[in-house]
Formats: sequence, structure tokens, C-alpha cells
Amino acid sequence: MSTAHPDVVVIGGGIHGAGVAQAAAAAGYSVRVLEKTGIASATSCRSSKLIHGGLRYLESGQFGLVRESLRERDRLLRIAPSLVRLVPFQIPVYRATNRWRSTIRAGLSLYALLGNLRPNTRFETLTRRQWGTLDGLATDGLKAVFRYYDGQTDDAALTQAVMRSAQTLGAELVCPAEFLHATRTNAGYAVRYRTAQGEQECECHVLVNAAGPWVNTVLAGIEPHPPLPAIELVQGTHIVLDGTLHQGVYYTEAEDRRAVFVMPWRSMTLVGTTETRFTGDPAQLRPLPEETDYLLRTFRRHFPQRDIHVRDQFAGLRVLPQGAGSAFHRPRETVYLTDAESRPRLVNIYGGKLTGYRAAAAKALALLRPALPSRRAQADTADLRIGD
Ligand SMILES: Cc1cc2nc3c(=O)[nH]c(=O)nc-3n(C[C@H](O)[C@H](O)[C@H](O)COP(=O)(O)OP(=O)(O)OC[C@H]3O[C@@H](n4cnc5c(N)ncnc54)[C@H](O)[C@@H]3O)c2cc1C
Repeated sequence: MSTAHPDVVVIGGGIHGAGVAQAAAAAGYSVRVLEKTGIASATSCRSSKLIHGGLRYLESGQFGLVRESLRERDRLLRIAPSLVRLVPFQIPVYRATNRWRSTIRAGLSLYALLGNLRPNTRFETLTRRQWGTLDGLATDGLKAVFRYYDGQTDDAALTQAVMRSAQTLGAELVCPAEFLHATRTNAGYAVRYRTAQGEQECECHVLVNAAGPWVNTVLAGIEPHPPLPAIELVQGTHIVLDGTLHQGVYYTEAEDRRAVFVMPWRSMTLVGTTETRFTGDPAQLRPLPEETDYLLRTFRRHFPQRDIHVRDQFAGLRVLPQGAGSAFHRPRETVYLTDAESRPRLVNIYGGKLTGYRAAAAKALALLRPALPSRRAQADTADLRIGD
């Protein structure tokens, strides 16, 4: 249903925009989502497709993020069983690598602890006899293989399902609709956007900028706006290979010691990802030949007997706070930038994870609630089933 002046306007139909639309509609607000290209047409279809706590974030001490992500992972396993499933993850430890058995054991123990020692946080060490079942994993110099469990999804399907849930709750999706400009008014924001029918205008009480890698471009079109935060866009490329894997995901180590996942994906194998600084127009993002080579070398080293035929490749952009050193050690927490400290009417969402979209949406909405009229809630996204 189209409301002339919705309570909430959301810019962006990626997982964050869909999540905020669902949370706001569930809380009883009228919502309009503006998406310029298509639902899940940008980062939210180019991720590693993992619903996970993020074992590797333990290395950079991001315990709060891991705990929350594990909680959200378990919630999604419960409310979206057709879209998120638990799969085994193997971590091989070779003589000639950086990994230590004791460090991995300690990391997995901490991971289980942060997951409240639930049964699905258990891990094990595989026996030598089991090594032979591991999809052709190289056993030369292999010292140990750990197995634990995490979630896998179809990121675009998940985003579309969350958006469908928002629409079922009454949210209105306008797509294609490109946000152009917004101006602060006494009652909220006056918003201008372009559809196939030409330029449109509406007013809203609150505005959410969930434009992913375009977050600062959108913010620059909102008047008045705070100084644009210094961010870095970091490109992550995946390649898709012919042939599948039968034992789940492999958490391999590249030549520069970074973790690279090798994953079963739609009867094929997905290998990723890289971390390459990106400047320029996000719409022009392409995998680089050196990234593809790096991923192929990592795959070949771990699965030397497998034939390699690259079916596809794609790249997505992480939005990270600007900083020195490797992107790997930069915080991965979602950042919410508001237009005021008290009763904000605008929230800009920076960064974040597919896994944490529901919690991120709840936080964004909680920030905006004081400026919203009172409405009667119709559902709680913590229990609302998504997907089939
Ligand atoms: C390589 C890589 C791997 C990742 N792997 C994982 C993973 O395995 N697990 C995990 O939990 N997270 C992962 N992430 C993180 C996760 O994918 C992202 O945090 C998430 O997809 C970002 O979603 P978003 O909605 O913020 O942005 P996007 O999905 O990029 O959506 C932004 C939307 O805004 C729209 N838009 C932009 N400007 C306008 C405008 N002017 N008007 C209207 N619409 C506009 C765009 O068209 C786009 O659809 C990964 C990220 C990357 C880059």
C-alpha cells in the first residue's frame, strides 16, 4: 500500500535496508524502501555467503562482535531454516604454515565459549583415516585437521526473503527508485527520488541511509549533513569453480597467511576472498586478474589433484573505517551515524555483516524511535519466520 508520507524512508535494498524495513514494519510503522537497481543487487549478493560468528575476528580481539554474530547465527538457523544451514568447516594445519595446533584449539574453545557452549559450537580433531575423505585435500605435511560448524546461506535469497517479509508486514518497495536529495524539515525529512515516472517527493519522520558502498554519496545529498566520515572501500573477490565439495567448507591459508574459504556452492566450489583497496565508482567494481590468480594458487596448493575450470567470478565492497595497516585488523562492527545526539531523525549505516543484519536493524530503529509517532507493533523480528 502506498502512503503519501510514510513514517520511515529507507534508502537501499541490500540486507541492511531490507532488515530495517522489516524491523520498522514489524514495529507498526509505515515504510517506503527506495532501491535504485534491484533487491540484493550489490554487496548483498557478492559476500562469502556465511552466517557465522567470524572465527578469524578472534585474532583481532573483536569478542563482542563474535558473541553477537553467534547469537544471530543461531537465531537465523531457527527462523530461516530453509535459507540458513549449519555445515562442517575444516581447518587444516600444515607443517609449513603459520598455524599452530594449540592456537587453533584455543581459538575454537573461545569460539565455543562465546557461543555459550551450545552443542553446535563443539569441535573435533579428525583422525588420519578421515583425512582421505576430505575432497582431495593435500595431505603432504598435514599435521592436523580441526572440524567445527558454522552457517551457510544464499545471500541474495536471504535478502529477498527479508524484503518479502517486510512487504508482507506492509512495507512499500519502490524499485527502481534512485534517491536524489533530502532536506531536514521540522517534522523529519523531505525526500526527492527518481523513478521511471520521473522525480517524486515525499516527507517522512525518519530516514535511513543503507546504501552500502554508496553510503557517503547518499549522505552528501542530505542537507544539512555532518562531515562525511573517512571510510575505505575494500574489494573482496570470489571465484566459482566447476565441481563440488562433499565435506563442507575448508578454511585454508593463503601465501600471505590470510584465511581463504573454499566452499561448496550450488553444486560448484566458491573460493574467496581477497582484500584489495578500492577507489572509484562502486558500480564499476570488477575482480582483478591478480586476485583471481591469488585465489587459484591458494586453491591449487590445498587441492592439487582437482581439475580447475573457472565458471564465474565476482567482487563486493566492504565499507571499513579508514586506518593504517591491513584491512584485516580494522573493526568490523556496524557503525551508526546519526544527525543528532538526541532524538535523531537520520541514521546512516556503515559496514556490518550479513549475519548481523537483524540486530543491526533493531539498533538503527531503536535510535530513531524517540522521533517516531507511537504505533502498535505487529510482530517481533526475533521470532518472525523468513523464507519457506
Ligand atoms: C567480499 C565480501 C564478503 C563478505 N562475506 C560475508 C559473509 O560471509 N558473512 C557475512 O555475514 N557478511 C559478509 N560480508 C558483509 C556483508 O556482505 C555486507 O555487510 C552486506 O551485504 C552489506 O549490505 P548493505 O545492505 O549494507 O549494502 P548493499 O548490499 O551494497 O546494498 C546497498 C543498496 O543500496 C542501493 N543504493 C545505493 N545508492 C542508492 C540510491 N542513491 N538510491 C537508491 N538505492 C541506492 C544499491 O543499489 C544497493 O542495492 C561480506 C562482504 C564482502 C564485501
